[in-house]
Amino acid sequence: MSFKTFNLSQALQKALTTQGYTSPTPIQEQAIPAILAGRDVIGGAQTGTGKTAAFALPVLQLLADRNRRTPQPKALVLAPTRELAAQVHDSFKTYGKHLPLRSACIFGGVGINPQTNILRRGVDILVACPGRLLDHANQGTVDLSKVEVLVLDEADRMLDMGFIHDIRRVLKLLPENRQNLLFSATYSPEIKQLSKSVLRNPQMIEL
Ligand code: AMP
Repeated sequence: MSFKTFNLSQALQKALTTQGYTSPTPIQEQAIPAILAGRDVIGGAQTGTGKTAAFALPVLQLLADRNRRTPQPKALVLAPTRELAAQVHDSFKTYGKHLPLRSACIFGGVGINPQTNILRRGVDILVACPGRLLDHANQGTVDLSKVEVLVLDEADRMLDMGFIHDIRRVLKLLPENRQNLLFSATYSPEIKQLSKSVLRNPQMIEL
């Protein structure tokens, strides 16, 4: 299979060529068309399977196609650790480098003011750890009411780290009508329960 089958924009194809990607990985083969079609997706995938591009590419494509120019984030990715958040943010920047979309990465343990300044300028894609995101929401420095796509990355690790209450609080700040993507290496009863409450008629992708 080739990336060409997905009809990704020239801007994304150019970035893939630069990265030297020739064909999609198995999770990308299944997730990219489902996400482009607007489906909710639950993906069982470990790191190293290409799961980041599996959601980053179609999310970039959807946002670029919709071309809505508002300062509020349209895509929100929640990640358990600052390392993962930074890595996911880097992927969005790499794949989206020829697109006019703005992104930001928000995590704790560093000063909040520089993040506030970035948020104030407007972002399309926000990658965040749940705790610091809630700090911003409580201060009124982030408005999540325009989020169209939510990604829960490494959801099992977020639950292991005790983020369930923070995740629930974030969910309350999002519009009801949105696309949801959940990635998890394991499919525990807790993940099943979270999926049931967050995802609508999801396409299951198991590798
Ligand atoms: P991830 O599972 O998202 O952490 O990705 C693992 C690694 O695979 C990253 O270094 C990506 O740059 C790389 N990668 C992702 N998709 C592809 C692809 N289709 N072809 C080659 N490498 C890829």
